[in-house]
Amino acid sequence: MEERLKKLGRFILTQLKKIALAIPVAVLLVALYVQCTKIGSNLMLETSGVKWYVSDDGATKDDIQAISNIVYKTLSEKGIDPSCFDVNIVLCNSTNEFLWKALVWDTNNQGITRHLFDNIVINKSSIKENKMDGFENSSLSDVVIHELCHIYLSKRLSHWDAYFMESWKNEGFCEYIAEHSTIGVENGLSLFLANDKSEIEKTDHIKTLYFYFTSRLKTDYLLGHKRVPFEEFVNTEYDEEALESEIRKDLMNEEYEYMP
Ligand SMILES: [Zn+2]
Repeated sequence: MEERLKKLGRFILTQLKKIALAIPVAVLLVALYVQCTKIGSNLMLETSGVKWYVSDDGATKDDIQAISNIVYKTLSEKGIDPSCFDVNIVLCNSTNEFLWKALVWDTNNQGITRHLFDNIVINKSSIKENKMDGFENSSLSDVVIHELCHIYLSKRLSHWDAYFMESWKNEGFCEYIAEHSTIGVENGLSLFLANDKSEIEKTDHIKTLYFYFTSRLKTDYLLGHKRVPFEEFVNTEYDEEALESEIRKDLMNEEYEYMP
């Protein structure tokens, strides 16, 4: 019996030592990642809540300020106080830079939020023109607002509640606040009304764009058109198909006008 207890004691001690070693290693890796994200980028602007890091040599502080002004104006108009943030935004100037700084493989990503590190990494853009390169329907400010909204949701709900929120609500809310449309409205609405699965699921790319489009449409219908309170929107489990049918009906009857 005593021997067994000693064995158990030794086992627990070994495990504790492993954990004690893993913690500083994890902290070191996080610190390294945070630093790597900023390598080659200059801190170009610091506003209340946001530090803007840019690796595009052609952009001036005024160019970043102009983007920041649009972002702050839109958020304030929607009742979101930008000073509630404490984040770094890293604007990349090549897709490769984005892939290794954001730690993603998919070049279709326009931006990514790393909640744990308070970092937002944005894919290649033309800052002066406020345009995302390679994404004809996206402006840089839209994408920044979208990513900031993910952080806002984490703060307003809690990190875990935002994480486990249904994906269409989470992405839909961010698209709704950013007033961002992945596909043109006409195109998106005709796909939505036709509801032809073979067309919508033709490629993974179209499927993703359509998912973002309909997520925003459903959010706009509930929060904007039906005036559903935010908490109710978050806590209600909607039957997505029934909701989509209802929206189609109201669009056809012209009871609901979708005007991004
Ligand atoms: Zn998103």
